[in-house]
Order: sequence, then structure tokens, then C-alpha cells
Amino acid sequence: DAARKPLVAGNWKMNGLAASAPEFVRIVGGHGALKAKVDLMVFPPATLLTSFATATRGSSVLVGAQDCHAKPSGAHTGDISAEMIADVGGRAVIVGHSERRADHGETDAVVRAKAEAALRAKLVAVVCVGETREERDAGRATDVVGRQLAGSLPDAATAATVVVAYEPVWAIGTGLTPTVADVAEMHGFIRAALTDRFGEQGAATRVLYGGSVKPDNAAELLRAQDVDGALVGGASLKADDFLAIARAA
Ligand code: PEP
Repeated sequence: DAARKPLVAGNWKMNGLAASAPEFVRIVGGHGALKAKVDLMVFPPATLLTSFATATRGSSVLVGAQDCHAKPSGAHTGDISAEMIADVGGRAVIVGHSERRADHGETDAVVRAKAEAALRAKLVAVVCVGETREERDAGRATDVVGRQLAGSLPDAATAATVVVAYEPVWAIGTGLTPTVADVAEMHGFIRAALTDRFGEQGAATRVLYGGSVKPDNAAELLRAQDVDGALVGGASLKADDFLAIARAA
């Protein structure tokens, strides 16, 4: 859809050291030739957020964090707030990634509070949803994703402030991907849910596919109906692979 500019976002997870800066700089450099066609975001670990945000200042690549606390400040050891992310130049935050939902017991209500915090701090919230293998096999994939969307998205969501990432849990880091038909079906379902709830803003909200996107499958997955880009884990760590995926968008 021409109204929704493609977005390719890289989630570095718990990877990357100060020595990774040149790889990031190559991503920023490579975006120059692509930026008219595709937006890029990179989500390094929080330890690298400040240096990456400083390196990208004035460039077209947005940098963000992988999680935030719902509160702006306080007695929450180890957490960082959306305001802190914005303070160091972060422009976006991933909330509700399945690894956070699983490893830290994050519920839809928690994810929604974090997304609201992102909007409060003027960050783009990349809200992740997706079913498990068992849920898909039981024929409940759209039920689960529908419930996650209803519970995780703030009422104030707009196309400019929220991005939805559909990431089937069983496809993350496994090398497995849904068929293009299954991706298109789920993205169509998500689009309908967004349009029902948010009207024109929902119709214009970008919905990314995530889960084992690689240079060799990106074109096929990104061509599917209602797919507006990708959230990329493993393949975002190498500038060449990440840029190849961006070129396919
Ligand atoms: C992710 O964790 O957001 C992800 C999509 O990971 P991968 O690309 O490695 O499957």
C-alpha cells in the first residue's frame, strides 16, 4: 500500500558490544540509497542506545530500545523508562516482544501500559503480537492475536505513533516461517481489527512481519498483502544481511 511506507526494524536482542559500532555505522551508511523507499529502525541493547543514537543523529535511521517500564521514574531496579530512552536520543521502543512476554511474564495489560508510556514520551511504540505453535495447531491463532491487539494497544494509537509487529512465536529464531498465504491471512485479520478500532489511523498503521526473516526469504514475505515491512532479529546483526532485507521491502 503506497500510503504506508515500508519499515524494516532490527532487534539486536542481548547482542552487541561497543565493538559493534562499525556494523551499525554501515547500516546507517547503507540506508542513504534506500531511504526514499524504506524506513529503518535499529533496536540495540540499552547499553548501546546512547552511542548509537549519537552516531545516527541527523541521519535517517531511527534508534530505539527493546523494552521500557510503564512509569517515568522510580524504585524499579534495572528498568529504564520511555523518558530515559527519549532523553538519550531514542525515538522508538519495542513493547510486548514474545521473549519479554515469556521470560518476564508480561501480560497484555503490562504491554499496553508500556505502549502508553512510549506515547507519553513521544516514542514510536512497536507493539508485538503472535501465537505459539500450540495455539496455531489448535486453530486459535487469530483469536490469540485478536485478544493481544485488543489488550495491548493504547486507545490513543495512531499510524504515526504505533507500529504493530506480527511475530508468530514458533517462527522466532527457528528458521521456520509461515506460508505467504498464512502471513497474508493474519495481516488481513490484523488490518481489519485496526481499522475497526482506529478507523483511518488503523488503516494507515504499519504492520510488520517478524520471525526468521532472512535475505533469501524477505522478498517473498514482504510482498504478502498487508505486510508493511519486517521486524528482524538474527539477520539484523550483520549490516549486509539487514540492508539486503531492506532492499527487498
Ligand atoms: C525477533 O525476535 O523479533 C525476531 C524476528 O527474531 P529472528 O528474526 O531471529 O527470528
